[in-house]
Amino acid sequence: MTNLTIQEKEYLLNTIREIPDFPKPGIVFRDITTLLNDPAAFKFLNEHLASRYENLGVEYIAGIESRGFIFGAALAARLGVGFVPIRKPKKLPYTTISQKYSLEYGVDELQIHVDAFKNKQGAKVLLIDDLIATGGTAKASVELIKQLGAECIEACFLINLKELGGAENLTKLSPVYSVLEI
Ligand code: AMP
Repeated sequence: MTNLTIQEKEYLLNTIREIPDFPKPGIVFRDITTLLNDPAAFKFLNEHLASRYENLGVEYIAGIESRGFIFGAALAARLGVGFVPIRKPKKLPYTTISQKYSLEYGVDELQIHVDAFKNKQGAKVLLIDDLIATGGTAKASVELIKQLGAECIEACFLINLKELGGAENLTKLSPVYSVLEI
């Protein structure tokens, strides 16, 4: 499985825009729309992820709403595997299972279709999102995958906000790979 060089990481990092105080004061929002809007960078990222995951027997890619859909769907099409959306409540039309998780203030919830992995026990699933911070969103997503009897072979993030410790904590549940660490 391949990792990027320091130069390649810097190249990708420089395509991601930082927006201070969004969506609230004190948060530096990592805006990946500038990466998506840079054809060479988006292609490079997709090729990197394809080379990392093409020989691991991935059967499904699960993307977390909503930026995980973009990277996940592009990679799924490239690898020739199914794409599964993990969504906020009341968005998925068929029967779902749910997992609640804690936010800084309050509780949120994610859902997945019950037949997302076609009831195959041990289906090999790669989980993708743009960024891991506290890890609550990703942890709930891995739990949903496991509740359906599938295996999360890796949880992959474009960016890991390292000091929040979410990625490190998630390794108790699943292997974790972050393309970039901040
Ligand atoms: P968490 O559950 O704390 O790991 O938060 C991860 C989710 O929140 C991901 O879906 C991210 O897209 C989003 N997120 C959290 N912090 C940021 C940030 N600083 N910049 C961009 N997205 C963020």
